Amino acid sequence: MAREPLIVGNWKMHCTRAEAQALVAGLTPLILDSPGRGIIVAPPFTALETIARTTMGTPIQLAAQNLHWESKGAFTGEISAAMLRDMGCAAVIIGHSERRQYFGDTDDGVNRKIGAALNHDLQPIVCVGETLEQRQADETNSHIERQLRGGFADLGADEVARCVVAYEPIWAIGTGHTATPAQAQEVHAHIRAVMSTLATADIANGLRILYGGSVKADNIDGLMAQDDVDGALVGGASLQAEQFARIVKFE
Ligand code: PEP
Repeated sequence: MAREPLIVGNWKMHCTRAEAQALVAGLTPLILDSPGRGIIVAPPFTALETIARTTMGTPIQLAAQNLHWESKGAFTGEISAAMLRDMGCAAVIIGHSERRQYFGDTDDGVNRKIGAALNHDLQPIVCVGETLEQRQADETNSHIERQLRGGFADLGADEVARCVVAYEPIWAIGTGHTATPAQAQEVHAHIRAVMSTLATADIANGLRILYGGSVKADNIDGLMAQDDVDGALVGGASLQAEQFARIVKFE
């Protein structure tokens, strides 16, 4: 089954509205001739409305970096799925390792967030990945399977089909130490196998699995050459228009 490649830029806690606007203004002309590639940027909440306006009529879609699972209420500082739809978001990153590491996000919370996103027609981009210690202890596959089974618990196969999974080894995020294409392929194949037990083999086959962790213009081609690597979740390099455009235009 053909899976349309998807490149997602996670801007993390970077960019004022003016900086965000300048980044997209630089990026847009560079990616206009990239048909057949999904392109998403995930600015901070404060720049969503600005970037929704700036990207209107372009191939660039909008994602948020997090959400709360409740639709409204006394949850100071939180943002709901309905609010993100209202901002023009098409997708939302869920369970990024920085959320898990610094803000206590759990597999159960990830599960609730996926449900809330799907209920509001936002595509969940669900992140999983192991620490260096887990990789060295040969626990990568078991850890990722646990994250997937917890995150996607009790979801119907048709709901799983509407998600994207991002494999992000924690040791590769922001470190410059990218997984080798072979390491990425091995884990992506494992993820696809686990997802087929959570949905169906057909659905797992159609699911896009992104790689994230120090993806740059000079390593994207080798990663995308792997059978089960369907795109990238890009942090640092997504803040530079030319780098990100080259990643979108992988060969
Ligand atoms: C990320 O933030 O998801 C990420 C992969 O960051 P970086 O590309 O900077 O490693």
